[in-house]
Amino acid sequence: MRRAYNSTLTLPQLSTCPQCAAPYVPHRVCPACGFYKGRQVLTVTAGA
Ligand SMILES: [Zn+2]
Repeated sequence: MRRAYNSTLTLPQLSTCPQCAAPYVPHRVCPACGFYKGRQVLTVTAGA
């Protein structure tokens, strides 16, 4: 019996940021706007 290893290689499910609608990893700060759990925890400086 051989185990299917590709079952462990699935990418983490991305959620959509309610603030900027960008895909982000759940339980992480949104890299696009710095929001997490409804509040801004990172100051993301937009270029230009
Ligand atoms: Zn965001």
